[in-house]
Amino acid sequence: MKRPFGSFAYSDGPAANCYWGDAVPEQDLAMPQVQGDLTADVVVIGGGYTGLNAALALAEAGENVVVLDARYPGWGASGRNGGFCCLGGTRAEDHQLDKRHGGGAAAEVRRAELASIRHVEGLIDRLDLDVDRHSEGETILAHSPAKAAQLDDDRRWFEAAYGVECDLIPGDQMVQHGLGGSFHGALTVPLGFALHPRKYLAGLVDAARAAGARIHGNSPALSVTRAGTGWRVHSLTGHVTARRLIVATNGYSSEDIPDWMRHRFLPAQSSVVATRRITDEERAAQGWTSYQMAYEDRRLLHYFHMTPDNRMVFGQRGGLISSRVNERRIANRVRRDLARLFPKWAEVETTHQWSGMVCLTASLNPYCGRIPDMPGAFAAFGYHGNGVAMGSLCGAWLAALARGVEPEHPIPRAFAAPPPPFPLGPLRRGWLAAEYAWARLTDR
Ligand SMILES: Cc1cc2nc3c(=O)[nH]c(=O)nc-3n(C[C@H](O)[C@H](O)[C@H](O)COP(=O)(O)OP(=O)(O)OC[C@H]3O[C@@H](n4cnc5c(N)ncnc54)[C@H](O)[C@@H]3O)c2cc1C
Repeated sequence: MKRPFGSFAYSDGPAANCYWGDAVPEQDLAMPQVQGDLTADVVVIGGGYTGLNAALALAEAGENVVVLDARYPGWGASGRNGGFCCLGGTRAEDHQLDKRHGGGAAAEVRRAELASIRHVEGLIDRLDLDVDRHSEGETILAHSPAKAAQLDDDRRWFEAAYGVECDLIPGDQMVQHGLGGSFHGALTVPLGFALHPRKYLAGLVDAARAAGARIHGNSPALSVTRAGTGWRVHSLTGHVTARRLIVATNGYSSEDIPDWMRHRFLPAQSSVVATRRITDEERAAQGWTSYQMAYEDRRLLHYFHMTPDNRMVFGQRGGLISSRVNERRIANRVRRDLARLFPKWAEVETTHQWSGMVCLTASLNPYCGRIPDMPGAFAAFGYHGNGVAMGSLCGAWLAALARGVEPEHPIPRAFAAPPPPFPLGPLRRGWLAAEYAWARLTDR
């Protein structure tokens, strides 16, 4: 496997102290290694939300499915994210979407975002998953008076784009709404909710297996070759031959599995800390008594929410080098920022810290579709840090594509256009350096 970051990023190190692992540890997700020669209708590479949603939908439709994960299902971003089941997936703006993909393309994307949240909500209800659901929509927090003055424009945009009514909260009423901190106003968009990412993941694993999917851990796909009219995936201890192939490796993709992926994805680090339980008195002292999932409106945004057991889960993107030393440095920075936004919690201990890879594309859109020149092969990736909902829906879309049936919700044209390789190819992490420098300059 050829991957863009150093080996630490792909080791167990970055996720070793992930808070979500307390409730759903690795041993609960351990799966047998693939052995010998297996055959299936569909072989799925990657056991995160994308791969598992695909496997679940396929198995429920009666297809014979094998999932291979290099470590265990949920080892990637799906087992260690911030828990926002929210709008997002694309970073392209409305005018770019309409210009590149034709009139109405932006509206298609907005409908897909709504459908993605409904998709996860539908699964949680149908499968009766206990995922610690909390938060009524998502709250955007203004980090400066100038940003607060823009919130009314944002409100109009959200209301027009998603057909909902949003709640604008002036700076002097933040504590009344339980949103006390270093913020100057807020906008609540009543869409999405927060969840326990690994409980959702474990629920998908159980449901997919109950429907007949075979899931294998410690089974990296090392290469993919043509086998008759199908594909053979080669792993360390076995092979899987199937008529159809799904690649669902997102931020943990390799340049050569398959070769078409080369330079088309850009992993970017996101880092999270979780505090010890914060007492009712401490929450009242800070004025943050809310369980809303929220983010600060910076380019390099902070995202956070109070879990139902009163820990603050607080994350941020950034970091160009994945190493043990850098991991500690970034965690310290995240912790410092938490104290800056919530000064009364400056002394509250951080008990957990972890990081993982999100995935960007040069088109600024996710991709969900066929792998060109590989008949019967499909891929989805590039959710730009918002894949809890969108990755789940893309998984279901891949299942429909692999079965040759119409998906329940149409795939936006913008997501069906293959992203071009990044300029700079193997050196494409340089784009992140430029983006972070620009963000630091403009976020002041
Ligand atoms: C710290 C962090 C915070 C985030 N917060 C949020 C959030 O709050 N809300 C949100 O919507 N999104 C969030 N995201 C993004 C979201 O988690 C991802 O978009 C989503 O989980 C992607 O799911 P996936 O299944 O496509 O990929 P992943 O979950 O990354 O799964 C890919 C899997 O592929 C496997 N794999 C890779 N290569 C191979 C191979 N060759 N053979 C076999 N298996 C292989 C890996 O082991 C991995 O398990 C966050 C991500 C991170 C890292």
